[in-house]
Amino acid sequence: MDLGYQDKVAVVTGGSSGIGLATAEQLLKENAKVVICGRNLERLQHAKDLLSRKLPNGKIYTQICDVLNQEAVYNLANFVASELGQCDLLVNNAGRGFVSTFEKTSHQDWRTELELKFFSQIYPIEAFRHMLLQSNQGAIVAVNSLLAFQPEPHMVCTSAARAGVQNLLKSLSVELAPKIRVNSILVGLIESGQWERRFESRADKNQSRENWFSELAEKRKIPMGRLGLPQEAANAIVFLGSNAARYITGTFIEVSGGLSRFV
Ligand code: NDP
Repeated sequence: MDLGYQDKVAVVTGGSSGIGLATAEQLLKENAKVVICGRNLERLQHAKDLLSRKLPNGKIYTQICDVLNQEAVYNLANFVASELGQCDLLVNNAGRGFVSTFEKTSHQDWRTELELKFFSQIYPIEAFRHMLLQSNQGAIVAVNSLLAFQPEPHMVCTSAARAGVQNLLKSLSVELAPKIRVNSILVGLIESGQWERRFESRADKNQSRENWFSELAEKRKIPMGRLGLPQEAANAIVFLGSNAARYITGTFIEVSGGLSRFV
């Protein structure tokens, strides 16, 4: 299957770790030019070094950018326009989850979480819209969570925000059609930075990595019996953003190892 990424430019927000980093790698393998952003320069440099070692001919660019800083997002778009002259795929991936019940969530927590989830979509889409409209293959893929449709009481705020984002993406898929396709992936539990950090802060420091992750999969009753790998989420992103998915818009692929309970 030809994904059609040759000579295309992809921007991946939050590309220095986890799903974003794996997506950048897959896109480079497909011969796209890839721009990744993140807030931390060291992490970005580390990601660039890693990708350059694995794929010496890969065209990888990095730019510091907090997606919640509108000016920084516009600077990122200006960098892409001046360096590469086009943007064909925007992967809105930057973010994190927030664990809190309704009782424990303050008004400020609600504002922070709603701002993160919505504006990490809104600012990049506004900033890259013009370039995506000029592409003959314009696409946006958002990394969202299964929580959008299957809320968890211990992540009440994130779940509500993610449902709203899914709704926003559906509207955009109509408003931006036929020039720009808008899709998302809904992930369950993916073995990436945030789970690594939770593993590092585990109560029992003698517990092995393998054991900690397999206990987690068992506790969450993941039918596939394990967490997903960042590359497995990246595969779905790269497909949805590609020319092979050119008639697909306004929808999602669930990458959760079968965790959803809805039909
Ligand atoms: P990681 O922590 O491994 O990666 C997150 C990436 O986003 C890093 O590159 C980080 O770099 C960047 N980032 C975070 N905040 C910002 C910001 N404000 N502006 C720019 N970059 C930012 O996590 P994942 O790969 O797991 O997460 C990717 C996406 O998937 C997130 O949106 C997350 O919420 C979502 N997700 C993941 C799940 C999972 O199980 N892994 C479950 C549900 C959703 P830096 O810190 O340097 O900015």
